[in-house]
Amino acid sequence: MDTAVSRLRTALDGPGLYLDSPADFAPYSTDWTRKFSGAPSLVARPRSTEQVAKLLAACDRHGLPVVPQCGNTGMVGGGVPRGGEVVINLSRMNRIESFDPIAGTVQVEAGVVLQTLNEAVAAEGFFMPVDLGARGSCQIGGMIATNAGGLRVLRYGHMRDQLRGLEVVLADGTVLSNLNKLKKNNTGLDLKHLFVGSEGILGIITRAVLQVVPKPPSLETALLALEERRTLPALLKNVRASFRGLSSLEFIVRDAIDLLREVDPGVREPFKEIYPVYVVVEEETGQGPVAREEFADRLDKLLSQGLVADAIVADSETRTRELWGYRERPTEAISRTGLTHKFDVTVPQGDIPRFCDEIEAMAKDYAGFRLFLYGHLGDGNVHVNMVQGRHLTKEAFYAAEKAIADRVYGEVAALGGSVSAEHGIGVMKRDYLGHSRSEAEIATMRRLKATLDPNGILNPGVMFAAK
Ligand SMILES: Cc1cc2nc3c(=O)[nH]c(=O)nc-3n(C[C@H](O)[C@H](O)[C@H](O)COP(=O)(O)OP(=O)(O)OC[C@H]3O[C@@H](n4cnc5c(N)ncnc54)[C@H](O)[C@@H]3O)c2cc1C
Repeated sequence: MDTAVSRLRTALDGPGLYLDSPADFAPYSTDWTRKFSGAPSLVARPRSTEQVAKLLAACDRHGLPVVPQCGNTGMVGGGVPRGGEVVINLSRMNRIESFDPIAGTVQVEAGVVLQTLNEAVAAEGFFMPVDLGARGSCQIGGMIATNAGGLRVLRYGHMRDQLRGLEVVLADGTVLSNLNKLKKNNTGLDLKHLFVGSEGILGIITRAVLQVVPKPPSLETALLALEERRTLPALLKNVRASFRGLSSLEFIVRDAIDLLREVDPGVREPFKEIYPVYVVVEEETGQGPVAREEFADRLDKLLSQGLVADAIVADSETRTRELWGYRERPTEAISRTGLTHKFDVTVPQGDIPRFCDEIEAMAKDYAGFRLFLYGHLGDGNVHVNMVQGRHLTKEAFYAAEKAIADRVYGEVAALGGSVSAEHGIGVMKRDYLGHSRSEAEIATMRRLKATLDPNGILNPGVMFAAK
């Protein structure tokens, strides 16, 4: 392998293309959750599609395995080396290439950070519909490769739904470029969709055309308190019917608020009383006091129907951020607390209360763990976090992983859910792919992989075990 790596370097040296010292590899070697890491043989940081193509062709020739990487905020261990791979990190391909205000499209390189893109299109009166907590670090290439979802799937869908055109480099260096801007374009197989959610096993995404939408005149946000989680499905049904501009509906089980306050004592108790579950609701509305009053009226109805016990409406930017913080900040607080077995699953929305009950009952069997539950109510997407408590050793934490995963995915399967809502499969869930996909589907995925990457150099071991 060492000789192959040095041959790769000699064949393809460009100023600053590679990081030279293993001491510089750290940010590219360990994932955000700190659960997955491995030493790369080399870290390459191309600046153009042409460089990516040359790198891949050379890796393919020399049989060098490759890990594609963008912002390294993935949650399932798919974007970091397992040991010995060449990491191809796209962060330096970070140009916003063009913006078309008439078509409402933007063409970007894969390494553009979501927040940077959002700020750029906001200046033109548009916004990027996909939004998530990792916005300051995750990049467009990684978001397409994982088909990222986030906070507004309910209204706008996933990354797949925003994608108009794509450029990908295949394992042998072939550039497959279709930077299409058109909304209507039914011309043969739409190959771009093969790469959405492909987690770097079929090719490296280098550029994309995304649709963006005009910024709504105003966004109203409220935090709701519920007496019991049993009413979550009824709340969803009601809010969907009455909040016509509904863009987010997110839930948080109380323990996550406790953790937030424990990690940051500056976090205020949201209501006078403590409730078992909270919901953030966000709606796109017209501007001005009348629109706000109408939003408040809709909330009043939820209160009078007994679906909600209390509500706070955000009356400023600061207050909006504070209310959203109750939903967004627990992820960060969890990572500061301990290692976490994270499960990002979907169940039918009506089963969310039952699923949460079952998971809480399961967690009681694992002493030393702390459980935090929150998620996207509108999509039935629950984030289950089994966190290492202060007195639980690393060994005991890892020893319980399989048993916990079997129990969580067992509950998901029993409810007809999915083992991965939005984070992907990575290395973490590959043994559970069969819970959500049939044998025929997995065999077809493998055939596609073998066709596009016959030497198996792209992200081996991700999505399914390498052959
Ligand atoms: C605080 C926090 C909140 C989050 N919230 C959400 C959420 O609400 N919804 C959600 O969906 N996710 C969420 N995530 C997970 C993560 O941010 C997303 O999966 C994101 O899309 C990953 O983008 P990235 O650029 O960091 O990709 P990376 O982590 O670098 O890579 C992810 C995967 O894509 C592959 N890949 C990366 N770049 C390319 C490329 N150019 N071509 C081909 N394959 C590539 C990698 O090999 C890996 O398998 C969250 C993460 C954090 C840390």
